[in-house]
Amino acid sequence: MDGTVTNWAGNITYAAKELHRPGSLTALRALVADSDRVRVLGSGHSFNEIAEPGAEGVLLSLAELPPEVDVDTAARTVRVGGGVRYAELARRVHGEGLALPNMASLPHISVAGSVATGTHGSGVLNGPLSAVVREVELVTADGSTVTIGRDEERFGGAVTALGALGVVTALTLDLEPAFEVEQHVFTELPFQGLDSGTFETVMATAYSVSLFTDWRAPGFRQVWLKRRSDQPLPAFPWAAPATEKMHPVPGMPAVNCTEQFGVPGPWHERLPHFRAEFVPSSGAELQSEYLLPRGHAVEMLHALDAIRETLAPVLQTCEVRTVAGDDQWLSPSYGRDTVAAHFTWVEDTAAVLPVVRRVEEALEPFGARPHWGKVFTLPASALRGLYPRLGDFRALARELDPEGTFANAFVRDVLGDTP
Ligand SMILES: Cc1cc2nc3c(=O)[nH]c(=O)nc-3n(C[C@H](O)[C@H](O)[C@H](O)COP(=O)(O)OP(=O)(O)OC[C@H]3O[C@@H](n4cnc5c(N)ncnc54)[C@H](O)[C@@H]3O)c2cc1C
Repeated sequence: MDGTVTNWAGNITYAAKELHRPGSLTALRALVADSDRVRVLGSGHSFNEIAEPGAEGVLLSLAELPPEVDVDTAARTVRVGGGVRYAELARRVHGEGLALPNMASLPHISVAGSVATGTHGSGVLNGPLSAVVREVELVTADGSTVTIGRDEERFGGAVTALGALGVVTALTLDLEPAFEVEQHVFTELPFQGLDSGTFETVMATAYSVSLFTDWRAPGFRQVWLKRRSDQPLPAFPWAAPATEKMHPVPGMPAVNCTEQFGVPGPWHERLPHFRAEFVPSSGAELQSEYLLPRGHAVEMLHALDAIRETLAPVLQTCEVRTVAGDDQWLSPSYGRDTVAAHFTWVEDTAAVLPVVRRVEEALEPFGARPHWGKVFTLPASALRGLYPRLGDFRALARELDPEGTFANAFVRDVLGDTP
């Protein structure tokens, strides 16, 4: 490869022998058919080696394919190309008076890469971003196209697929009428007395709720409520309204964040925390996240509180969100309403990894599943026990990719396959 290619965070340098950016679907098909090992690089916002094809493999970027965003206003669907990012998709969809139901904390990420890893926002009734996918179009190892729709049994493995089935060249998503959202930030939500009932009530106060803490003291430093303007905002008696605009990472400028103080605005300018034209999060970081059954939320918070002196020195911020259960076999929220604990760490792998291990030990009793796109140390043998439909996914991968063209070390490990 000419020069080095890294992920967004810079903690992964891809060893791939070549990086290709085909300009047409025809060129992409030919390239795939000619290659033994291929992985697609989306927008590179994952923090681990999930996209790495290995030193003998080809890394494929779809950034130079025509950026297809084809909205069907009558059917309320959109067909979106495999390289398109949420910022562009949201702008085009909103222009047609339509909306996606939810977004992640940032719009900078590609749609295909996000749904491949189970990326999510928050909301007790909001599933992961993959929940709106109704059809996937894949280019498989021989260069042919396979389309898998929601009514097929194998669809359960086709969306949150870790890039293991082929190149996703298009996705069709469900849309809904455009809506407005207001963002309200509160500060210092105490931890004491937070039982399961109160946790559920707090998290259901608005359409999307995020709790932030640095674990330097018990309790949450910030609460972000994203209220749909077409839904009521109940009183929030547990914390005080913020008196200035805030960034979830202490010390970072609030100008990077979406509008607060209850100013209504379009869904795609409020559901993410970070504005498309600014650096999201702190920009110098590693991230981890664990998703577990929501019924364990308060036990999870106690387990993290018990190790907060270990967490705090390497932590920039921790975000607690909820995700409604879904039916993608490899989704971290598969089959269960979920609470998610996210960690934005300092940018120091050696210091962070032992703490990640501590978090995994603390959350192991609750069956916590790590985010596929973030830093984790759980061995594949432990992961396999967390996904009851993994065998079905393995069978689907063998059906669509019998030679293992798209199976890198990360995927082979998860599936329990030898190279
Ligand atoms: C600042 C920041 C904030 C974040 N916030 C959130 C958040 O709020 N919620 C959350 O859940 N996650 C969050 N993430 C994690 C992020 O959403 C995931 O890592 C996601 O996968 C990124 O998408 P990407 O396009 O960059 O994927 P990449 O990292 O490029 O790729 C991820 C995987 O998808 C595969 N892939 C990508 N495109 C295709 C394709 N066209 N065909 C086949 N396979 C493909 C790759 O091969 C790889 O296996 C955040 C990350 C960052 C850096």
